Amino acid sequence: MKLVVIAGPAGVGKGSLVKWIIANDPNFMLSVSATTRSPRPGEQDGVHYHFVTTERFEAGIAAGDFLEWAQVHNHNYYGTLKSELDRASELEKHLLLEIDLQGARQVQESHPEVISIFITPPSWEELERRLRNRATETESEIQTRLTTARRELEAANEFDFQLINDDLEFCAQEIIKIVKEAAND
Ligand code: 5GP
Repeated sequence: MKLVVIAGPAGVGKGSLVKWIIANDPNFMLSVSATTRSPRPGEQDGVHYHFVTTERFEAGIAAGDFLEWAQVHNHNYYGTLKSELDRASELEKHLLLEIDLQGARQVQESHPEVISIFITPPSWEELERRLRNRATETESEIQTRLTTARRELEAANEFDFQLINDDLEFCAQEIIKIVKEAAND
């Protein structure tokens, strides 16, 4: 079982990559994060996220339930539950963590053996286009995400691997290859 952090700016396609890997390789599973943000249309509690209240999240922090947590885009809490590690270890699967830069840094600190992968867009223009196409956010939310994205791109060299998400399937297969090589399986 390998712990794998997938980071990169919002809109870069981390979600689609992770989904592709889970659908195509049974040796991988996705860590289901807890968040205080509201579900988007189609998102299910316990599948995409554990949607919780701020009070509940803060109680989890106090109880030491989180492997890492952060306030993303300045307000909502997001975090990885330690119980996700136990779940992966029981199922003997590689655990994919799709988390932000602050969370990635915490995991690198506490679990130096983590495989950290940073996903970059083919270009800045492409990233902005993808973010706008998603159209689930207001203009001001999009601006916040773009600002965060610029800052995150500057941190790419803190990661073990950097991959350009130009072709979804190719990039997903690269991730699988990296993890399998590291795990010797
Ligand atoms: P979204 O609201 O679009 O689902 O996610 C917003 C950001 O939160 C993304 O950059 C995503 O990687 C990050 N995120 C999701 N789950 C976690 C988590 O458990 N921990 C941290 N630190 N960031 C997360």
